[in-house]
Amino acid sequence: MTEIINGKEISKKILYEIKVEAEQLYEKYEFKAGLAVVLIGNDPASQIYVKNKRATCEKIGFYSEAYDLSEEVKENELIKLLDELNAEPSIHGILVQLPLPKHLDERKILEYINPQKDVDGFHPSTQAKLFLGTAKLEPCTPKGIIELLKRSNIQIEGKHCVILGRSNIVGKPLALMLLKENATVTICHSKTENIAEIARTADILISAIGKANFVTADMVKENAVVIDVGMNRSLDNKLVGDVDYQNVFPKVRAITPVPGGVGPMTIAMLMKNTLEAAKLIKKIKT
Ligand code: NAP
Repeated sequence: MTEIINGKEISKKILYEIKVEAEQLYEKYEFKAGLAVVLIGNDPASQIYVKNKRATCEKIGFYSEAYDLSEEVKENELIKLLDELNAEPSIHGILVQLPLPKHLDERKILEYINPQKDVDGFHPSTQAKLFLGTAKLEPCTPKGIIELLKRSNIQIEGKHCVILGRSNIVGKPLALMLLKENATVTICHSKTENIAEIARTADILISAIGKANFVTADMVKENAVVIDVGMNRSLDNKLVGDVDYQNVFPKVRAITPVPGGVGPMTIAMLMKNTLEAAKLIKKIKT
């Protein structure tokens, strides 16, 4: 029988664990993990993500600061804010919601975040550490995927993991993290030839492409595990993944739904990274 990997339930459990640890830290050291969430402009999707992140901080007892900046904010104003947050002792994590308005250089802005507070895991020094296998604050979506697999007792070591998509925020860091878990990893992208053939060899197939129904049943090996990272809008405006869920479902051993799979894990990992950053900055070992 196919198992549905319930990211909503697993993330709830993780958030509860973080809340308990945050309470213990508060009792012992009298401080709260602090996250600053910076939103620039009025993109509706970004506004929803940021609202959820701030609400989650509240729920689990983190300190949080919200900065809503105008779409026209100047680069030097944003950098000044980041400098202040970098130096602010009550803030342990800084998140700048992406995408940024076109006049701002994403790479340059992300580099201004103190790597110790880089809870999104997008700073070049975090990415270099990921390459070396020494990163403490790993990018949230790939970290959430590894956590989903582990908490669902799905063996990664020795398995062939095929990742569809090579973005800097999902595909590439996930490949490095799976490699660290001793998987054999293949990455596919838009120029890959015979993508269906390669996908069919996967024990664990992860799709992070951003195209509804891209992964069809004939691309999936019998009894494989399928992780759907995609977040797309269907013709009737429903949130759907990259996988043709209905037809793939009966063929596989386990699968993540959309919504309720990888999505909720991303926020949970952001909170986990914020707590981790706070402990590292405060030099607290647990
Ligand atoms: P992205 O930066 O647009 O990257 C998409 C990747 O897919 C690229 O590497 C691209 O290849 C590849 N691709 C596109 N069309 C392809 C095709 N026909 N065949 C093979 N490869 C193809 O996207 P992203 O930021 O990684 O996000 C991917 C999806 O995950 C989106 O739906 C996004 O909304 C979702 N997402 C979800 C979460 C979550 O928390 N659930 C988090 C992040 C992203 P090239 O490199 O060759 O162009």
